[in-house]
Amino acid sequence: MGERAAATESIAVRNPATGEEIARVPIDSAGDVAAAVARIRAAQPAWEELGFAGRRAWLYRLRDWMLDNADRIADTMKAETGKVRAESTIEVPYLADQINFYGARAAGMLGERRVRPNSALAATRKLRLRYRPYPVVGLISPWNFPLVLSLGDAIPALMAGAAVAMKPSEVTPLGLNEIVDAWREEIGGPDVIAVVNGGAETATALIDHSDFVGFTGSDVTGKKVMARAAETLTPVSLELGGKDPMVVLEGANLERAANAAAWGGMLNSGQMCISVERIYVEDGAYDEFVDRLTEKVAGLDQGADGEVASCDVGAMTMASQLEKVERQVDEAVAAGARALTGGKRSQGPGQFFQPTVLVDVEPGMSVLEDETFGPVVTVTRVADEEE
Ligand code: NAD
Repeated sequence: MGERAAATESIAVRNPATGEEIARVPIDSAGDVAAAVARIRAAQPAWEELGFAGRRAWLYRLRDWMLDNADRIADTMKAETGKVRAESTIEVPYLADQINFYGARAAGMLGERRVRPNSALAATRKLRLRYRPYPVVGLISPWNFPLVLSLGDAIPALMAGAAVAMKPSEVTPLGLNEIVDAWREEIGGPDVIAVVNGGAETATALIDHSDFVGFTGSDVTGKKVMARAAETLTPVSLELGGKDPMVVLEGANLERAANAAAWGGMLNSGQMCISVERIYVEDGAYDEFVDRLTEKVAGLDQGADGEVASCDVGAMTMASQLEKVERQVDEAVAAGARALTGGKRSQGPGQFFQPTVLVDVEPGMSVLEDETFGPVVTVTRVADEEE
């Protein structure tokens, strides 16, 4: 986790499936962030100078290390997110694929292009388009896919010649720190990748010191990131939340539609920005679709599985998110909605919310209008496609 001035504060990381504290991570102050960014900024020109093939060779070494250590990384993912085993294993292959993708294509993407001038002023000039990296890219990430949404975004930046500083979610910092420690200590990679740990204060310092900010997280925080970056006119990209709809029309294959809804709604305990949260079903398909979906969701096994994948749905990673889901469902049920399966937090030490299908939901209910980010889908009957 890098050398830093004696950190006075630390984050307790818990296993959401068991409630146990599994590690403590020192928090990086604004000064620590400035120092980490200065370090990678100093190393960036040589990284850019190395050329694409040289950088790619280093990232291939990172890929190979991750593949060699995939089980160990999956163990960390499982412990810090509370995901089931099967879902904990998907991040490393995604990252390896990302490295292969940019390894094969980025040279073409980054290549110089000739531009035909349109303006009469430039008619006699030869124009060339050349890409240069932002020296330091800062990435701020959420907890639902701790590696895909941090290192996954770092890969194209690194391939392009930028140095990257990442701030993982304070809820799930362990996996990323493990990999970046290995980059430095086991792989011996150039000092162009840093991790800084902490919450809002650490993230704010990272925005202040970066030349480009990539943020993935909630809309509320995204607005703060954009406002802060505006103070230094630092460009940002924001990947935010939503209320993912699915539409089922008469004539659809309802078995496939119900499978898609159950998978899309319950994958990663519904903690996905591209999941299924609200489903609109045409009148003639509604009853059969709801029966099939309810049966499938009721049949899912939930729990903390062991080394061998045995459960379908894991824990909810963040305690406050579990409370939000519970509040949305309780309020909807109090106002007349019905849970055909699930509907409650599970008993026990871990943070589990039962896979839930809600019907009779009405406009104005938070569960229908605000992001849920949990294992809950609502189904609404509509007269026809137009509605
Ligand atoms: P969040 O917005 O609470 O936090 C995201 C990150 O921002 C964390 O690292 C957090 O420490 C940091 N942060 C907190 N306060 C900050 C501040 N004032 N300035 C800068 N950074 C700050 O989101 P979350 O709860 O970690 O993640 C869930 C959200 O992420 C959901 O809304 C979900 O839809 C969204 N998400 C979007 C995508 C996507 O690709 N669009 C992917 C995954 C998650």
